[in-house]
Amino acid sequence: MGLIPDNVIDEILTRADIESVVGRYVLLKRSGGNLWGLCPFHSEKTASFSVNPAKGIYKCFGCGKGGNAINFIMEIEHLNYPEAIRHLGALYGVEIPETTSSGNDVRKDEKNRVYDILKEAAKFYYKSFNDPDIGQPAREYASKRGLSKQTLDNFGIGYSPMSWNALYDLLKSKGYKDEELTNSGIFKKSEKTGKPYELFRGRLMFPIFDSFGKIIAFGGRALGDEKPKYINSPDSLVYDKRNHLYAMNFARKEQSKQLIVVEGYMDAIAMHVAGFKNTVAALGTSFTDSQLKLCSRYAEEVVFFFDADNAGQNAALRAIKMMMEYLKKLTGINIRIKIAKVPDGKDPDEYIKVNGADKFKDVVRNALYVEDYLLERAKNDNTDPETGSLDSGKYQQDILVYGSWMNDEIKMSKMAGVAGPVLGATQQAVLSQMKKYQQIEDKKLEQQESRALERERREDIGRRNNVEEYDEPDNSMPAEVVTEQPVFKKVNDSATKEEIDLFAYALSLGSALANNDRIQKTDIIRPDDFSGDTLRELVKIFLNIYDGKNETLFAKMSDYFSRLTINGMPAEDVILKAVEAADKSSDVHVKSDMYLALLLKVRESIINCEEDRLMNLRGNASAEDKKKIDEMLSRLSDYKLSLRNRIGEL
Ligand SMILES: [Zn+2]
Repeated sequence: MGLIPDNVIDEILTRADIESVVGRYVLLKRSGGNLWGLCPFHSEKTASFSVNPAKGIYKCFGCGKGGNAINFIMEIEHLNYPEAIRHLGALYGVEIPETTSSGNDVRKDEKNRVYDILKEAAKFYYKSFNDPDIGQPAREYASKRGLSKQTLDNFGIGYSPMSWNALYDLLKSKGYKDEELTNSGIFKKSEKTGKPYELFRGRLMFPIFDSFGKIIAFGGRALGDEKPKYINSPDSLVYDKRNHLYAMNFARKEQSKQLIVVEGYMDAIAMHVAGFKNTVAALGTSFTDSQLKLCSRYAEEVVFFFDADNAGQNAALRAIKMMMEYLKKLTGINIRIKIAKVPDGKDPDEYIKVNGADKFKDVVRNALYVEDYLLERAKNDNTDPETGSLDSGKYQQDILVYGSWMNDEIKMSKMAGVAGPVLGATQQAVLSQMKKYQQIEDKKLEQQESRALERERREDIGRRNNVEEYDEPDNSMPAEVVTEQPVFKKVNDSATKEEIDLFAYALSLGSALANNDRIQKTDIIRPDDFSGDTLRELVKIFLNIYDGKNETLFAKMSDYFSRLTINGMPAEDVILKAVEAADKSSDVHVKSDMYLALLLKVRESIINCEEDRLMNLRGNASAEDKKKIDEMLSRLSDYKLSLRNRIGEL
């Protein structure tokens, strides 16, 4: 496949045994011929993820993901095919020949070009900011916001002039192509002219860095009241906003055990200036699980800020619920979450300006762990401000709901311990009620999740069934990608049980198919033994790979399974189930007899169809044609007889 030679892929699949590849990510336990563990691709409590070392494949019966060692690495490390091969090659000592124009290098080249464009753009914005004429409005705004020269330089802040093409012309003069410019996310393609134009005009520009200080995107703030106030680069070849946090490149160097999360770049910068250099900002999305994971890489504790007003406090509740759900899923990470309230309805930036950094230190210090915050919320929200009396019915309701969100029993029991005396109940009673709530919540979550999985599965099958699209030239895809896919016209994915079993026995026999005194050369399956397109195609591929001794046959086939359906189901589900059944017998003779019996049955039914067809033709045929047809029919019936005899011998 592609430009990596087949023998190298063979070598990888032989050396990178699936058990050790998956074992780096998943704790596996043996049960029967398979190994089982918790699926790394979807959240689950009982193991439905299986690894079959003999076949070199994995399969999750929960979410349906499956394949060979290369597919596993692609999926879990988010790599493309050649990248995954290189990754495994490095791990298992297989040398991958360097090809100058393999898909991997093209992708890498493309990415590097985008990084270069973004760097050039940052220089251009910086220069414009400092240009005596052009940068004037931006410098005025910056000084109004109290940004010192040092701060501006530290964060690489610049200005995008009011122009549609100044940066465009500069980059074109440096030899960048239109397509590369739109890849970078800071240009948009004009629907009218098809040419790229600049996304940022007349804005204060904030380069967005990845954790290691590479520019991956920009944010632009309006200088006046124009809308929108902020524009951010869209996700691009090098940028996925869900995976990054603004200023993490600076914050991680602090090696503080704590990270502070604020809303925007301006807040983050103000915090850094005030000495809170362990501050990061989410990039215009609600906080994601990958961002939480990123935090856990550098810190043990994350402090979130919310406004003290109603909207801010409601946002806090939503965020806590979501965060606790992340923590339930990300079982491997260990991070504590705290909630801070900025007094007087201000954002951190304003508060520091009015009250000073020392006062703000108190605000950070007063941040509460989620469970303490929620205890306080339940009490304050349900206390009458005038009489000071507590509505204990509502309080109990809130406490049970909040408790059910917790990701561990210690937090729950802590909450129950505080709420118990208030409710006149024992800690144990409150705790057990919380757990009941949690079971209901978890069930809801599980249902949501399984609906999402079901949707994904349907989309996957839809995608696989859409193979006829490959037949059309697709200009958006490079030619080599298109030709890598098997090309079909209208796909007929139907197959009878016998056909499926026959193919499964062939796979199960593997090298024994040719090295077997019972199976003759003519007994090896052929594409036209099968009625549907999918199995015909798979048999063709099988015969191509199969050379009577290929040990990685199965792992190689699994690449193709994942693109096809059989009777509307994922091909690997159907085939693997049938192979599992065939594998039950370890005796080669028994297996080959089963194989032959199925082959003869399948071939006999093809002959029956052919006989029917000929009999139909015979009705209206001329005398001469009738004679020919009769000859064919008699040959068929001879062949059928010989098949019958062989079936009888088995
Ligand atoms: Zn799964």
